[in-house]
Amino acid sequence: IHFANAQSNFDSMSGSHPSFSEILSFRVDSVLNLMTINEKIGQLVQYSGGWDATGPSSSENHQYKLSKLKKGEVGSMLNVTSVAAIRETQQIVMENSRLKIPLIFAYDVIHGYKTIFPIPLGESASWDLEIIQKSASIAAKESAASGLQWTFAPMLDVSRDARWGRIMEGAGEDPYLTSKIGVARIKGFQGGNLNDKFTVAACAKHFAGYGFGEAGRDYNTVNIGDYELHNTVLPPFKAAAKSGVATFMNAFNDVDGIPATGHRELQHDILKGKWNWDGFIVSDWGSIGEMIAHGFAEDKKQAAEIAMNSGSDMDMESYAYEGHLAELLTENKITESQLNDAVKRILKLKFELGLFDDPYKYCDETRERENVYTKEHLKIARDVARKSIVLLKNENKTLPLSKSIEKIAVIGPLGDDKDVPLGNWRGKGVYNSAVSLLEGIKNKVDKNVQVSFAKGIELMSETVEPGKNQFLYPIKFNTKDKTAITEAVELAKKSDVVLLSVGENAYQTGEGRSQVNIGFAGLQNELIDAVTKANENVVVVLMNGRPMDLSEINKKVSTILECWHLGSQAGNAISDVIFGDYNPSGKLPVSFPYDVGQEPLYYNQKNTGRPYSMDHVTFSSYRDAPKEALFPFGFGLSYTNFKYSDLKLSRSEISKDGSLIAKIRVTNTGDKVGEEVVQLYIRDLVGSLVRPIRELKGFEKIKLKPQESRTVSFEITPETLQFYTQNKKWEVEPGTFQIWIGGDSKASTTAKFSVQ
Ligand code: BGC
Repeated sequence: IHFANAQSNFDSMSGSHPSFSEILSFRVDSVLNLMTINEKIGQLVQYSGGWDATGPSSSENHQYKLSKLKKGEVGSMLNVTSVAAIRETQQIVMENSRLKIPLIFAYDVIHGYKTIFPIPLGESASWDLEIIQKSASIAAKESAASGLQWTFAPMLDVSRDARWGRIMEGAGEDPYLTSKIGVARIKGFQGGNLNDKFTVAACAKHFAGYGFGEAGRDYNTVNIGDYELHNTVLPPFKAAAKSGVATFMNAFNDVDGIPATGHRELQHDILKGKWNWDGFIVSDWGSIGEMIAHGFAEDKKQAAEIAMNSGSDMDMESYAYEGHLAELLTENKITESQLNDAVKRILKLKFELGLFDDPYKYCDETRERENVYTKEHLKIARDVARKSIVLLKNENKTLPLSKSIEKIAVIGPLGDDKDVPLGNWRGKGVYNSAVSLLEGIKNKVDKNVQVSFAKGIELMSETVEPGKNQFLYPIKFNTKDKTAITEAVELAKKSDVVLLSVGENAYQTGEGRSQVNIGFAGLQNELIDAVTKANENVVVVLMNGRPMDLSEINKKVSTILECWHLGSQAGNAISDVIFGDYNPSGKLPVSFPYDVGQEPLYYNQKNTGRPYSMDHVTFSSYRDAPKEALFPFGFGLSYTNFKYSDLKLSRSEISKDGSLIAKIRVTNTGDKVGEEVVQLYIRDLVGSLVRPIRELKGFEKIKLKPQESRTVSFEITPETLQFYTQNKKWEVEPGTFQIWIGGDSKASTTAKFSVQ
């Protein structure tokens, strides 16, 4: 029927061959024309399955969903996650519904499906767009081979607050870096062609402002003005829309009093209007209904009305659209053309994915067996993981360790943990399947090297069991049992080096997991104290999902390696760095504070009027803590050194629409091959609105042999210089600009130019 309909449309066309997008829209219209109002509304409904290969259970909720599926009144399912279950659920629709419009199956594939990559914040520390794209493409390949067609990633929420649990899921504090990484992830997930059965549709989330929840509390209210919204929050989303991301997800928070889900200006005017983006917006889980709790809608009916009129296309688990859109239509509170527009956007994606041609296209167990958790994927996961590690401190050049060192002690609650490295949002990552640090070290060293382990303490008082609802499961730290610290101290005393693995459990970050304490929970501080007193040669191997307060540990040790939650191959990747088989090249995508009281903390601040210096990074100060970060944005060491020299600008003056080239010479002055992330920062010295003291505007990761030099060029264009000005437009304002190029946000090599 669909095809016949489209065909008759073609036949009525005169002249040239229709374009691909014309064919697509004919096909979409051909289906739309057959649909009843209830079928149309049904396409806007997304349910969570939560059922496995045995299909829906007898629970009332499942039976209800089953009946809606049979009627063809569901557009999409999330959380149905096996080939068998997906096939079976699709079959319910194909065999019972009138029009047989296939479902689209979604899941949170955030940093890998079964082969787990570093958490997004960690992976962002690689600043390596190619490898980030690659990891997303593998996540897509594995999930598409397992029956899925749509991932709820990437998260593009810029966040400046280490307390926020979901900071682990983004690319950190900078809008430029978040944009670049976001686009790389989208390209990885979607590939060049959604019809390719090894790719999935991506979802830019959470639109918008979710990362700015007041005080870092999850789901909290967001009080930002136009300046922050346009200059900081929206740019990554704009980049995503431009890159062709298939879907957007709105957000739980309100922005200055308007819930994002009911935000017409954001969704309707900006995203679908000004940016002319033609995908569809899914609500966040229950966020349409939650407008009642916000105090923005009286009941579900009004919530549905507001959401529809604001541009939210698909209702994830609120039951607001299915319950009320029909009535709202008859009351003329929404229009049929609005409904049609939402349906068309959804049908379009289903056509693009090829689901109309073959609804079971993604359901093939052989393909799943051959393409999930393969050796090749694990090899890439190891590479991504080691590129994500950041060397924060190496004062005594303890690292890299010699492989023939005699006695290595791995100490700490995370040292032999095979689950924590998988991090939160680990898709179908198998419980306890990561390579632990201890295993990684043992895999690497000669047989005669003695590698010993002492846990010292348990971090948690209870283990989170696989299968438990980890989202609701309380985090309980061990604060009592210190008995094993003595054993750890004895081991530290007789070892040549201690690898002390401390940090955070996998479930200290993620959704609903904000914390006011960003230090070492439980008895870790006592262990750190005891072990650092027993041995001077301690390498701290941090595993964590957020920037931590490292000020005390920093006083006690000379070596710190930031290893995030690195995924399936964590231990092997860390060993590659520890023994120098890989020279660390990661740079922090987020500032690490001295104290949680500094949060939110970020490098691209505006200057205040006091103190009066224009030359320094002069934030308003505290009496009891430094003003700046302990480890700043963009920072990370290598086993070699890089020198920056000969910064030259091709012109010292340009017009508002002109451009210039900045060139700098980077030399590897050490004796090891190394990679460096060359970073360009810029400041508009006087603006119609106060401009940040520095903003990242370019970067390039380069590899240099010992003593090798390379000239790196950055083109400075209107796009680099513009901002959302007092005229409420993106404009370049004339005046003097200053740039810095170097290895972190403190770079000192600088030059100025003017814009006429
Ligand atoms: C999260 C989203 C996620 C959705 C579906 C929500 O609670 O905020 O990011 O995609 O659940 O699992």
